[in-house]
Amino acid sequence: MATMHVVQVSRPDGPFETVERQIPEPGAGWVRIRVQACGICHSDSLVKEGTFPGIQYPRVPGHEVAGVIDSVGSGVASWQPGQRVGVGWNGGYCGHCEHCRRGDLFACVTGRATGITYDGGYAEYMLAHATAVALMPAELAPVEAAPLMCAGVTMFNALRNSGARPGDVVAVLGLGGLGHLGVQYAAKMGFYVVGIARGKDKEPLACELGASAYLDSQSQDPAAELLRLGGARVILATVTSGDAMSAVQGGLAVNGTLLLIGAAHSMQVFPLFLLAGRRSVRGWYSGTAIDSQDTLAFSTRSGVRSMNEIFPLERASEAYDRMMSGKARFRVVLTVGR
Ligand SMILES: [Zn+2]
Ligand SMILES: [Zn+2]
Repeated sequence: MATMHVVQVSRPDGPFETVERQIPEPGAGWVRIRVQACGICHSDSLVKEGTFPGIQYPRVPGHEVAGVIDSVGSGVASWQPGQRVGVGWNGGYCGHCEHCRRGDLFACVTGRATGITYDGGYAEYMLAHATAVALMPAELAPVEAAPLMCAGVTMFNALRNSGARPGDVVAVLGLGGLGHLGVQYAAKMGFYVVGIARGKDKEPLACELGASAYLDSQSQDPAAELLRLGGARVILATVTSGDAMSAVQGGLAVNGTLLLIGAAHSMQVFPLFLLAGRRSVRGWYSGTAIDSQDTLAFSTRSGVRSMNEIFPLERASEAYDRMMSGKARFRVVLTVGR
């Protein structure tokens, strides 16, 4: 029986363990992917630390997967062996629950999440639901595609659904793993992009990524500076500090939206300011497989790329620590196989 290596977590707060397992066979409606690369996302800590409700252990994390389909189960009409694909956080949908019937596929009651409710990409092979699979363009290397499957689609899909139009002021709060992609996408979409981060040292990077202006939140008041530019149509908040989110909302233009991507526990909102200018504070779910596929295609054509630190699968534990340290520039990606 053919076997594979996977990196699993056996209990909340347990270590990463490299173990040998049988290569699984895809059931009806599922495909098997030979993994080539898998990004490490901060949300993988939900598995490592056991903070996501209902996780069954052992679990293989990883929801920024790039690879090649090598086997398909029965009833899979749209995919075939040999296709280069990616899989992201959304682990697929049923197509017949009420949310799916209304077109809100991301909210499917099955709640499937890759590397959370089923095993993910810290592995040589994984199974994915056919509705969770996105086509990867031939021009994109697996290590380039992987981080776009969560960080990338989250930024791209939030921005393209934000209501901002070309020429509008769009601010990106935070210039880390998410923000460095957000600035690039926003620039390529034709917005007037303002990068906001702490310290003067990130200004050259912001400009290199396509920002037209940079605000240092330590020495400047970002809200006041945004208002000087006429106010932001959208502020894309990628940080995890509720205080930092609260502090920028005053920079919203009339009808402006503070779009929350970072998972802060709480923040302050100012109802009078919001209602007087019809401003809003809104969350955004990354997207489903077709959104990821659009992200990969757009990134390929426009040249948007993640800056990555690369580790082999065997060093997943070290790579994860590097991601958690917050010092990686900017995403950490595992390479799998020879
Ligand atoms: Zn993620
Ligand atoms: Zn459904």
